Amino acid sequence: MKILKFGGTSISDATGIIRCTRIIQSQKAQIIVCSAFSGITDALINAGLSAASGISDFRQLSQAIVKRHEKAVNDLLITQNTLLLDQINEIHREMEQLLEGVYLLREFSPRTRDLIVSFGEKITARLLVLFLNSQHIPAEFCDSYHLIYTNEVFGQAKIDTERSSKAIKEHFSKIDQSVTIIPGFTGRTENGVITTLGRGGSDLTATYIGAVLEADEIQIWTDVNGFMSADPNKVKEAFSLSMISYDEALELSYFGAKVLLPHSIRPAKEKGVPIVIKNTFDPSFAGTICSAKTTPLKHFAKGITSIDRISLINIKGSGMIGVRGISARIFRTLADQDINVILISQASSEQSVCVAVEPKATLKACKSLKETFQLEMMSKMIDEIGVEENLSIIAVVGDRMKNTPGVAGRIFNAFGENGVNVIAIAQGASELNISIVISKEDEERALNSLHNAFFTQKRILNLIIAGKGLIGSELIEQIKYSRESFQKSNGVELRVISVLDSKNMIFHPHGIDLSNWKKPLGQSHTPSDIRRLLTFIEENNLINTVFIDCTASEQIADHYLTLMKNRISIVAANKIANTKPMSDYKRLKKTAAEYKVHFLYETNAGAGLPIIDTIRNLRDSGDEIIKFEAILSGTISFIFNSMNENAPFSETVKRAKDLGYTEPDPRVDLSGTDFARKILLLVRESGVSMEIEDIAIERLIPTRCFQAEKQEDLYLFLKEQDNRYAQWIKKASQKNAIIRCIGKYEGGKASISLLEINQDHPFYSLQGTDHIIAIYTRRYTNPLVIKGAGAGAEVTAGGVMSDIFRIATAMNKRWDY
Ligand code: ADP
Ligand code: ASP
Ligand code: MG
Repeated sequence: MKILKFGGTSISDATGIIRCTRIIQSQKAQIIVCSAFSGITDALINAGLSAASGISDFRQLSQAIVKRHEKAVNDLLITQNTLLLDQINEIHREMEQLLEGVYLLREFSPRTRDLIVSFGEKITARLLVLFLNSQHIPAEFCDSYHLIYTNEVFGQAKIDTERSSKAIKEHFSKIDQSVTIIPGFTGRTENGVITTLGRGGSDLTATYIGAVLEADEIQIWTDVNGFMSADPNKVKEAFSLSMISYDEALELSYFGAKVLLPHSIRPAKEKGVPIVIKNTFDPSFAGTICSAKTTPLKHFAKGITSIDRISLINIKGSGMIGVRGISARIFRTLADQDINVILISQASSEQSVCVAVEPKATLKACKSLKETFQLEMMSKMIDEIGVEENLSIIAVVGDRMKNTPGVAGRIFNAFGENGVNVIAIAQGASELNISIVISKEDEERALNSLHNAFFTQKRILNLIIAGKGLIGSELIEQIKYSRESFQKSNGVELRVISVLDSKNMIFHPHGIDLSNWKKPLGQSHTPSDIRRLLTFIEENNLINTVFIDCTASEQIADHYLTLMKNRISIVAANKIANTKPMSDYKRLKKTAAEYKVHFLYETNAGAGLPIIDTIRNLRDSGDEIIKFEAILSGTISFIFNSMNENAPFSETVKRAKDLGYTEPDPRVDLSGTDFARKILLLVRESGVSMEIEDIAIERLIPTRCFQAEKQEDLYLFLKEQDNRYAQWIKKASQKNAIIRCIGKYEGGKASISLLEINQDHPFYSLQGTDHIIAIYTRRYTNPLVIKGAGAGAEVTAGGVMSDIFRIATAMNKRWDY
């Protein structure tokens, strides 16, 4: 025998009733328990509350309820069964009269409330009978009033098992072939007063009747594919669990998996009746079988759940250390007040105990605890009984967590990486769950990061690329070609979720097609807007996200702090942010550390050459940068490497420009500003505070060159310098020396100047547009030299790639223990 329960999510209108009817037929079900249409219970409560507060709009609210039911009747075209239709109208009338009574008396006691909400399920059950009969399926309505006896705790009544089981057995002993339709959720006291079994109570009606009748199976039909590894509405990657033990289901539902009411599991467990959770909207999907068995999963955990809106009461005091019975007294006090303790956690030092309760119980809990511990508070054994509100509990549940070391570590790592602050932690004695109290606002991030840490085999690094110029385009090409091999070797998928240019952006949470991004970007009407991007990221619960700035835009650089605060790492090819005043530079570093995000910018000096990383590694290993010399401008490098007696200065500048080595206006390079920015950053990375104005720049060209309005004039002015350079080169060569434009840092001072160097100098052999740096440290008294191609889209994009790989590798490390 099969008993089926349809939740409100399955029935919310005529279509729902038709859908459920098909399932009843295909399952050959004998007993059906149904909920109210989705939202009706809340609507009834709201109408009652309005009436009780004297707000006359309760009449509109109740009218809306009547209309929804009438619409379903009309849509189902069932008008022939006048008896049932009359009954439905009669329930509506009774409901309206009762609400008028509530309005007059301004009283909405739990008892009245139970009576009013009971109408929701009663109507659905009658509607279902009506429709089944209209389809010539024999079906009968059976009021739970005749089956479920309870105590008198209105709103949360307990089933009187003796009476109820007798009534159920008696009723079903004489049932024929027809389908019995029972309204869920409601019961009655011994004296015939209507009660309810608590929100979501139809699950219990079904499992209880199923258990008493020792059904072959209890099916719970809802709107998701069974019990899932997390709430699919909060975690997009959640997957369905095919098999789950009663105990696992209990822990998961206790900690928020609403798909099954926690109390509904016990009756089925006691009788060993399997509960199958199925999806009304996808009936062929197998769903979840909840029984005594569980599957040996490859994952440590079975599911991750959350309860939002809880409060934490902290009882603190150094006098509590070693004193017996404090926890027992806390429990007793709260139990006496009928307060449900969701979680209790004690610091191992025993200096504090915290108890999680529902927000509505907070005041009462605090007051009663203060009374209980009045003496201890007076004698300062207990210093404080305080409350923290707006919290959530996250629970990681699973049979395999028993005796598995490292589970807590994995949780903390995931939280640490995603900036979720842990307020309290508790492990159930069953070791079936670890529960963590966090701030409510962190809930979705916490769920997603844990889900990622425990279940997602494919680790994803989400990339946002700003700038579609040479570097941005080249970077996308490099990602396209290297991501498969990177995933094979590192297990991390690089997924470009957004590309933005100065006007518009494209966004796809599952990844943009890297072979075809230019056209969609060109056609996009979504303006580039960081706020909008952040909303996309939040809506899609994306974690492990990196923003890659391949622009030279100050506006984009100004968003770094906001991005970091939203837990987005930054890889910057753009130098602007790092070369703003020292206070800005420090703030960026501090924010990145505070929000635990990466901030990498290897290409800010020397493109793909590992200069910044080397300086950082040297310092991290305890070394100290004493001095460095560098040529970090491809243009300047080329000009001085190519200039000789036959190649005068002005012609060499022109050649550099023709070869595309300079900015469109070569003066931008010749002014030395860009070079100075790189030197400034390296000085800062060496641990020294410095501003751009502190760098002494020797001009390569006189002021009047900067005043030239036309390019031809500029070359005429540059020509005037040819002689000076030629003379100097000649004089130097007599001493076997050459002239180079070198950036230098030593003893707190930095400069860019033209220097004569001889064969012993590491820069003597520099060629073409290559960059070079010689770093002198306490350990490296002979300098450590890094040399190579330091400009060009390809090497720069390569440098950006290595920053991305660094982040992916760091992300990977979190998993390897
Ligand atoms: P019904 O109306 O069928 O009783 P509920 O709304 O009470 O449905 O329960 C189903 C909902 O439970 C789902 O829509 C889903 O959002 C939520 N839920 C929370 N956690 C889980 C989980 N771990 N697995 C499946 N569903 C979950
Ligand atoms: N209709 C009730 C509620 O919304 C009972 C249920 O759906 O199980 O809580
Ligand atoms: Mg439910």
